[in-house]
Amino acid sequence: MAISTPRNYVREARRRVAPKRERIGKIVERLARAHPDATIALRFRDPVELLISVMLSAQTTDVTVNRVTERLFRKYRRPEDYLAVPLEELEADIRPTGTFRQKAKNLRGAMAMLITEYDGRVPESLDELVRLPGVGRKTANVVVAERGAAQGIVVDTHVRRLSQRLGLTRHQDPVKIERDLMRVVPRADWARFPHLLIWHGRRVCDARRPRCEDCVLADLCPSSRAASEPATSGV
Ligand code: SF4
Repeated sequence: MAISTPRNYVREARRRVAPKRERIGKIVERLARAHPDATIALRFRDPVELLISVMLSAQTTDVTVNRVTERLFRKYRRPEDYLAVPLEELEADIRPTGTFRQKAKNLRGAMAMLITEYDGRVPESLDELVRLPGVGRKTANVVVAERGAAQGIVVDTHVRRLSQRLGLTRHQDPVKIERDLMRVVPRADWARFPHLLIWHGRRVCDARRPRCEDCVLADLCPSSRAASEPATSGV
């Protein structure tokens, strides 16, 4: 049975658990211990492949993207290669990732801008990345974080759901959620925090059937069904 999410997350969090600033360190530490393998699942060898993989990952699975890019990255080795084939050929090469016409158009637009404005390299700042066709804040955040200098926090469907359940935000809008998280999550954890929530969301805090009884955050989570029986932990 799906759990109901409290209407007023902040008030609920304060009533049942400590304020979020007091909990966040333990939340990060326990999740890191529970999911030491929580990293990006996409496969890439350089920043251009990273950018392309993340662009292709919209509304599909990382497994599908990896399957497609295994062949794609053998065929297209430089940004110029994406412009050297007919659009229809590129569309066919990325078709399994879905919305392939729009993605092919965006890929070519992004690669063209990399060539003309950045000497074929992927820019490093969030502001420059979001200027590329088809690159929104979420994509840009993933690319920047994976290059080791997170300038924001990636908010996907898992991050949104867990942030709300954990009482770290009461917003629905990804930009407002990101702003709330940036205020409370230590900057050093901005890159790994979304991975931890994503993996915890997949393995434990399922959208429809959260396994609160097995959750290392049960005593820190205002939405826990197991709140009366805190999870044992050394942290
Ligand atoms: S206790 Fe854990 S599984 Fe349950 S809602 Fe909170 S984070 Fe999700």
